Formats: sequence, C-alpha cells, structure tokens
Amino acid sequence: MSHHITLIPGDGIGYEVSLAAARCIEACGVDILWEKVLAGQDALEKTGELLPQNVLDSIRKNKIALKGPITTPIGVGFRSVNVAIRQALELFACVRPAKSYPGVKSRFKDIDLVIVRENSEDLYSGIEFQEGKPETQSLIAQIKKDTGKNIRSDSGISIKPISKFASERIVRYAFEYALKNKRKKVTCVHKANIMKFTDGLFLQVARQVASEFSGKIAFEEAIVDNMAMQLVQKPHNYDVLVLPNLYGDILSDLCAGLVGGLGVAPGANIGAEMAVFEAVHGSAPKYKGKNKADPTAMILSGVLMLRHIQENKAADILEEAVSQVIAEGKFVTYDLKPDPLDPSAVGTKEMADAIIEKIKRIDAKS
Ligand code: NAD
Repeated sequence: MSHHITLIPGDGIGYEVSLAAARCIEACGVDILWEKVLAGQDALEKTGELLPQNVLDSIRKNKIALKGPITTPIGVGFRSVNVAIRQALELFACVRPAKSYPGVKSRFKDIDLVIVRENSEDLYSGIEFQEGKPETQSLIAQIKKDTGKNIRSDSGISIKPISKFASERIVRYAFEYALKNKRKKVTCVHKANIMKFTDGLFLQVARQVASEFSGKIAFEEAIVDNMAMQLVQKPHNYDVLVLPNLYGDILSDLCAGLVGGLGVAPGANIGAEMAVFEAVHGSAPKYKGKNKADPTAMILSGVLMLRHIQENKAADILEEAVSQVIAEGKFVTYDLKPDPLDPSAVGTKEMADAIIEKIKRIDAKS
C-alpha cells in the first residue's frame, strides 16, 4: 500500500536534513508518495506567506507529515510557524523520546526516556499584552479591581491558560502511550506549589487519570525545578514524563542533552487524526547550505513516523542502520565525532549515504 505523506522541507538546514531523511525512509522499501509543500522563509519569498493554506490543506488530506525545522525571529515579527501548525491542526501531544545510542558522546549510557508535552495551551497560547498599550493598561486596572494585586504599569503580560480538557487529554495520552509501549511509570511535572490554579489543575487532573491506570502504570509527581536537577543526576529513575507546554519544551532540550544533543533528538506532534514528525532542533541558520548538519534527529523522526503508520519492520531496519553507523563512528557528522574539529567528519549527505548502505545490508540479511 502506498502512503501519501506531506513533506515540508522547512528552511535553514531543513532542506538538507529532510532530504536525507526522505532518502533513508525510501531506502527501507516503504512505498511513499511525498507531497512537497513550502512553509517558512522559502514560502515567504515564493508566495508572500509564511504558512500558505496549501500546507495545512495537504496535512489535513494526508494526515501525516514529515517536517524540517522553520526559523522564527526572536521577539519581533511573526509568531512561530511551528506553533501555528500545531495549533491549527490540534496536534495536542508532543512526544520526544530521549534514547542513548552507543557511540554518541554523552555523560550517561542506557537512557530511555520519553517526554510527553502538552502542545496546545499554557504560555504558548499566544495571548499577550504589549507594554504601554491601552488594552494592557485596562487589563492591569481590571486585575487590580478583581484581585487587589498591583502589576507595574510598564509591564508586558503573557497569559497562561491551562484547562481541565487539555490536561486530561494529554495525561490520558501519556498513560495510554506508556501502556502501548510497555513502559512502567508516568511522572507528572508541574509547579503547582506556586501556580495553584493552572499547574495545580494540571496536577489534580493527572492524579484522577492516574487512578484509572493504577496497578498497570506507576504514577509519581515532581516539581519542575527539582525535576531538572533529578534528570541531570539520576536520569535512569525516569520513564515517561508528562508536562504542560513550557516545561515540556525546556526539559525536552535538557533530555536531548542527556543523550548527546539536539543532533540526535527526534519528535512527533500527534493529534486525534493527524501527526507531524519533526526533529527537536531548529533551523541552525549558520549551517544552512553547508552540508554539515547532523541528519540523525530528522531520520529518527522518520523512524517514529514509520511506527505511526504501522511500517514497523521498516522502522526497525532504519533505526538499526542509524545505530550501526553512529556506533562505527566513521561516516558521521562533526557533532558525533569525539573532536568536533575532526577533519574526517562527513557531511549530511554522506552520512545519509552510509545509512542507506547499512539499510541495504540489514535488509539483505533479514
Ligand atoms: P537550533 O536547534 O537551530 O540550533 C542550535 C545549535 O544546535 C546550532 O547552532 C548547532 O550548533 C546545533 N544544532 C542544531 N541542529 C543541529 C544538527 N542537525 N546538526 C548539528 N548541529 C545542530 O536552535 P536555535 O539556534 O535556537 O534556533 C534557530 C531557529 O530555529 C530559530 O528561529 C528557532 O525559532 C527555530 N526553531 C525551530 C524549530 C522547529 O522548526 N520545530 C525548533 C526549534 C527552533
């Protein structure tokens, strides 16, 4: 059966790593019809829009997309295209495994954690009030009236909504993911001691959902600052972590750091009907067009995608091929060499070529 899949190359290093991933996925023998659509800076130059309607239409039609990273300027201009895609398509769960692969430089071995991050609300809702604007002044006045609390008049304000609905949906997803993937424990990460009505609600809902899985999946709670310390000291104590949006974003980069960095950290944005697979890393603009970026994170996002579409044999072969190339350490990009200045480091394309060679050998043996 052929799979119709939307391919969004992204910008910056996006083209190089997504092309590498698509080639490796095809080499596994899966019949895929890619529908290539542009988003981000390249789309802006060609169409005048950062997120043209045909991108969302294509994902809605095909239900599955593989997406390269897209640049977001900090503090000014448009809000993130990445966040816009997740919100427009209700991709409520961001799943980011952090798994050790032998041969990747890192402080720890044998880590196998999964971050399940709420993707639709919290401080990423984009509800913001700019400093000095009349609506900001009236909100400050209203808050003073309703709560008696003072906010300085020269403040900007970001709103952090956390709902029962979205909290239950993400926590239930985390427990069901744990059951399906033979995981043992879900840890709910929060700051409910300070934000009682938002993180407190998230935690309260998590406890209720956890009780339904009692005896099947263990449950524990952790305050986010303590969790950051525990993860760098005892990462092996953790299994599946479920978090509101902002903490999930921050701790998923921390967990990527535990297993060797952004170059090897894959991700998936999952909704009830659609899913978009993308690396945790961004567009690393300084490496654009240099054939230097590590394609591993994007290829491993392809492994997650193959599992999602039930192409499990292809997913196993692709993951094994990546793992073997990294373990051998010869045809790998600069970030996977013990010395990043090692002149024997290969480029994005050459690492993908080595993975494709491995796929052929593994496939021939199986
Ligand atoms: P980044 O992840 O792009 O890069 C940070 C550093 O990590 C790079 O300078 C590089 O040293 C390293 N790195 C990242 N990916 C690598 C790879 N594949 N191989 C080797 N090294 C790699 O983060 P940033 O610089 O903070 O963000 C750049 C842009 O990307 C920003 O506009 C940001 O908003 C955007 N971004 C997009 C996404 C997405 O599309 N989902 C995610 C994160 C950031």
